[in-house]
Amino acid sequence: AFDLLVVGGGPAGASSAIYSARKGIRTGLIAERFGGQVMDTMAIENFISVKATQGPKLVQGLEEHVKDYDVDIMDNQRVAKVTPAAVEGGYIEVELENGAKAQTKTLLLATGARWREMNVPGEKEYRGRGVAYCPHCDGPLFKGKPVAVIGGGNSGIEAAIDLAGIVSHVTVLEFDSKLRADEVLIRKAKSMPNIDIIVNAQTTEVTGNGEKVTGLTYTDRVSGDSKAVELAGIFVQIGLVPNSEFLKDTIELTNRGEIVTGPRGETSVPGIFAAGDVTNVPYKQIIIAMGGGANAALGAFDYLIRLPVH
Ligand code: FAD
Repeated sequence: AFDLLVVGGGPAGASSAIYSARKGIRTGLIAERFGGQVMDTMAIENFISVKATQGPKLVQGLEEHVKDYDVDIMDNQRVAKVTPAAVEGGYIEVELENGAKAQTKTLLLATGARWREMNVPGEKEYRGRGVAYCPHCDGPLFKGKPVAVIGGGNSGIEAAIDLAGIVSHVTVLEFDSKLRADEVLIRKAKSMPNIDIIVNAQTTEVTGNGEKVTGLTYTDRVSGDSKAVELAGIFVQIGLVPNSEFLKDTIELTNRGEIVTGPRGETSVPGIFAAGDVTNVPYKQIIIAMGGGANAALGAFDYLIRLPVH
């Protein structure tokens, strides 16, 4: 049995495991894939104090750091079910997909999120070679070049405004007949000379030259015509999906599936904490996930030392 069991091996999970182990409590970490989204990232230029690095390299550093402590790592294991303690201070039970079970006094959920994909030909092939999901991360890679933003919700229009200051031109493609972003954002985007907005546009294919993206094609849903746009980059902004499906009936989630957390990372269930992209923290970044992991681990430790002695 553990004092603190972490689910997730991304930046939030790794950080929380280290903070927990440094308190000398029995710490475990279960991850489906150690490294999380960082494994899929090429250039990282906003992890403060490291000017530039690559995802797999940062993950190697994360792993070495965690392994320097007494953390029981269970990699390649997926958690399927969480059962809260029957009484406060009792054991929380975690069940793996393979049927194995683990018990813990406190649980820290750091299962992250995944970008919603368009699922069109070329998207997977050119991911990281022109197809991007994070404007804060990859915007500067397209300096002075034309890009598209797929999605006209808040994240899409924010991305367009953000990118317009860096790239030469932004084309926003929205599937629906109107944008779904806040009015102030739409007004701001429309006032910018290098943003064009196209509604009723269904993206059908990402095109490239075998090496990188050269454009996309879309269908005009009113006329039925197929059209092509030349581009260097495509930012897909159609939603971030939290990996919280297995918690649906256990803890409070927002209507988008994010775990609702308080200032110490606490969730609606006593003894269960959460951090990183799976939570309702407004910005999803490596440095923020790591800070969140540290914060929630300290929150869990505070909770643990206040449990009544039996
Ligand atoms: P994740 O990194 O998503 O890790 C989640 C962990 O939980 C993984 O180990 C996963 O396997 C595990 N897991 C999920 N479900 C289960 C389960 N049921 N059982 C067991 N384990 C489970 N941020 C930046 O700051 N800078 C960048 O340059 C940058 N570039 C990015 C580029 C791309 C392509 C992507 C996708 C993201 C990028 N981000 C960047 C965002 C950043 O990667 C995330 O904010 C960060 O990884 C979130 O950390 P996390 O620990 O919360 O979750």
